[in-house]
Amino acid sequence: MTQHREHSCHAVGCAAPVPPKSLMCKGDWLQVPRRLREAVMRVYRPGQEVTKDPSPIYVLVADYVVGWLAVRQGRWTDAQLTARVVRQWKLWSAKVSAEDAAFFRALCGTHWTEMGR
Ligand SMILES: [Zn+2]
Repeated sequence: MTQHREHSCHAVGCAAPVPPKSLMCKGDWLQVPRRLREAVMRVYRPGQEVTKDPSPIYVLVADYVVGWLAVRQGRWTDAQLTARVVRQWKLWSAKVSAEDAAFFRALCGTHWTEMGR
């Protein structure tokens, strides 16, 4: 793992180079609604891009936001997003606090409701 590897935008289908601390390029990021952008910033820990250890809640939130944008841009279906979130939740849920879990459930809204079915 090298620290100098080029970092690219996490939006599905976008390979624009971005600074390591950025999740997405500016064009994609600005298509993300404010409430989701604020959620990413809330769980971001300064320096995580250097230590390569984002918190489990960051991974969950970032993944959800990336998937949300993919649906908005017509690259994913809603069902794909839900499936992805379910998979990630199974991987990470044991590692997040009750507070973070509640935060994530609220963030996902209807997607969370679908997951519970
Ligand atoms: Zn992008």
